Order: sequence, then structure tokens, then C-alpha cells
Amino acid sequence: MRTTLSAAVQAREIPCRVPGCTNTWTQSPRQVLEALQRGDREPPRRMCDRCHGLYQGMEDLELECSRPGCGGKVVIGRFQQLVRKVQGRSTPRSLLCEACRSEAQGLEPRQIPCRVPGCDNTWTWKPVEQIVSPDGRPPQRMCDRCYREYRASEHRELQCKVPGCDGTLPYSKYEQLADRRAGRKPPARMCRTCAETLRGLQDREVRCSTSGCDGTWVWTRFSQLVALRQGKGTKPPRRRCPACREELQSLEDREVRCRIHACPGTWTYRAHHQLADRRRGRKPPKRLCPECLERLGSLEERHIPCRHEACDRTWVLTPFEQLLFEHLGREVPERLCERCDTFLRTHPTTEVPCTGCGGPILWTSEAQLMTELGRWVRPQLCADCKAKAVRTSPAS
Ligand SMILES: [Zn+2]
Ligand SMILES: [Zn+2]
Ligand SMILES: [Zn+2]
Ligand SMILES: [Zn+2]
Ligand SMILES: [Zn+2]
Ligand SMILES: [Zn+2]
Ligand SMILES: [Zn+2]
Ligand SMILES: [Zn+2]
Repeated sequence: MRTTLSAAVQAREIPCRVPGCTNTWTQSPRQVLEALQRGDREPPRRMCDRCHGLYQGMEDLELECSRPGCGGKVVIGRFQQLVRKVQGRSTPRSLLCEACRSEAQGLEPRQIPCRVPGCDNTWTWKPVEQIVSPDGRPPQRMCDRCYREYRASEHRELQCKVPGCDGTLPYSKYEQLADRRAGRKPPARMCRTCAETLRGLQDREVRCSTSGCDGTWVWTRFSQLVALRQGKGTKPPRRRCPACREELQSLEDREVRCRIHACPGTWTYRAHHQLADRRRGRKPPKRLCPECLERLGSLEERHIPCRHEACDRTWVLTPFEQLLFEHLGREVPERLCERCDTFLRTHPTTEVPCTGCGGPILWTSEAQLMTELGRWVRPQLCADCKAKAVRTSPAS
């Protein structure tokens, strides 16, 4: 009967009693039977072979209390050490002696604001942690939500803020989190190379681009850096000085009447042109309206015969005058050629001596010109002598 029963009972695999250990130990059929006979429902709590071996080699550990300056002792039992070892945990960071532990039990957990700026959450500062704090002040720590987000995020690289640069710079997980909490965009920063280049640059004073202005403007180090990165080199751009910029703001393009008064057209006097004229101390220019300008371009010089009937030369009627006369509705005027004009101006009316009596003969500019043109001769006799000569000469 006994033999039959023991033959029917099989060995059992029982889990190791050490929490975290997945090994088993074997309960022999005989042991199973004995347990049944004793009426034990639960299998005995026992260690697996490995745990047992480890346990045998261990001794109770006496450590200093973690509270700074306490000097008390903490004993970590062999089994406790074994559990930690099996679970792959290291010796606990804060171990309190008996006295400190009971003191900690009298303390309340404290809610400490999350260290991430912009986060309103708190984290719990446990009494044990309070006890071991060297200065009694809570450490900087993230709340659970922030910490989870921090863990889940990834390190990123930010694009350098200098336009034209493809450099990058690290953007830590913590910075990302803090920026998100504060509702900020990722910061604009310079890469290492740009920062170094910038250190080697200095602000430069550059001449104002308005002609006639001796003002200057400052080409900042940063703008120079941008120009470098954009491949524009080290030549400063054309820019106005602050005074010119401000003055330009107050100026507006103006419509100005055509320089031909009879024309109703206007031309646009640009603000920047007005500014340049002011700087040079010049008055607003006189200009043709666009229509007149176009008409002027289509006209050519005309050669008009000299007003003097005895002259075969011409004078030049300029396109501008033609335009002017068109607007005024005027005919082409009569004018002397340049030669005649100059001659008359340089030959005022004069007196020449009469060859007869030596008295003065009035010789007008016009008469001199006629002589110059070969039409008349230089006068010889005064009116009196001429009359005498007519009387004395035999009648023809
Ligand atoms: Zn075990
Ligand atoms: Zn202590
Ligand atoms: Zn937080
Ligand atoms: Zn850069
Ligand atoms: Zn200027
Ligand atoms: Zn006009
Ligand atoms: Zn002439
Ligand atoms: Zn005379």
C-alpha cells in the first residue's frame, strides 16, 4: 500500500523563495508524500541551489548610517543582501540607522516644485531623503511628468542661427523640455565655428551710401559674419547712415512740374534723390516730364538759314527748342547764324574819317557786316562831301 502510494507521487518543482529569483528547487516524491501526510497544503519555502550557495558565502554587513554626521550603524542581513544581488540591485544609496529611521517616520513627505522652469508640478521629497540631505534643502529635481517626457525625448541638433551656415549645435533633452514648458521656440544659437569667427570680427564704420553725405553707419560683427556665410565676402553693402535713413522716412516721392512751363506733365522726384540733393546742397532739379523726354528723343537738330539775307550760313535749332516751341505753339524764329551774330556783337557802331574832309562818318554794325559779307564797301566820303561830289561832277 505504502509503496503504491509513493510510486504514484511525482517530484515537484517549487519556485525559489528569494523574491526575483526564477529558479526552482526539486521536491522529491518522498518529501511530497511526507508533506501530504503532515497535511501541509503549501509547499515549503526554500531557496534554489544557486541562491543557497550565495547565501552560504555571505555575512551580515555593518554599514555607516547615510545621514551625514550621524555615525550610527546599519546592519544589512545576509538574506537582504541576497535579494538585492538576485534582483541586480546595488547597495541602497541611503541607509539609515534605527534612530534616524524612526526620526524619518515622524516626518511628512514634502511637495517640492519641479525644477523645470515653467512647470507647475511638484515632486515628493520623501522623509528618508530629507533626513540624509546634507543642508536640509531639497535637491533640484523634475516632477514625474517632466521626467517621463525627458526620458522619452531624444537629443537633437539645432540649425545654426547664422543665415547661410549649415552648422549645427547640440540641443539637450533638458533644454528641449524647459523650452516646451515655457512655451518657447527652440533657441536661435550660433554653431561653434560661427562663434569663433565672430570673435575675430569687429564692428566697422562704413561711409553712408547717400552721395554727398559724410555720415557713417555701423556694420556689425554679426552682419559681417552673415555676409561671409552667404558668400558675399568682406565688402560692406551700400547702406545709408542713421540720419539719412530717418530723413528718408520723412520724405515722399513728389510729382514735380515739367521744366517746360507750358507743359502740364509732371515727373517723379524720388525720395532718395531728394535726400541726395539736400546733402549736396542742391536745389530740386529741373526736368522734363516722361512724355517730353520721349518727344525730345525723337527730335533732331535742324539747320535754319541765317536771318541775314546776304548770308548763306545756317544756325542750329536744338531739339529742346523745337520741343519748347511746340508747346508754346510758336513758329521757328528768325535768327542770325553764329558768324553774323558774333560779328555784330564784336563790331559796335564806329566812326571812320571822311577821305574828303576828314570829318567823322558813322559806320553802323550792320553796315560793317554788309562790308564783311562783300555787299557793301567801306564808306569813303561823308554825306556833305558826297553831295559836293555829286554837284561838281558832270551830270551823267
Ligand atoms: Zn533562487
Ligand atoms: Zn543615523
Ligand atoms: Zn515638471
Ligand atoms: Zn554657423
Ligand atoms: Zn548719410
Ligand atoms: Zn512736359
Ligand atoms: Zn549769317
Ligand atoms: Zn567829308
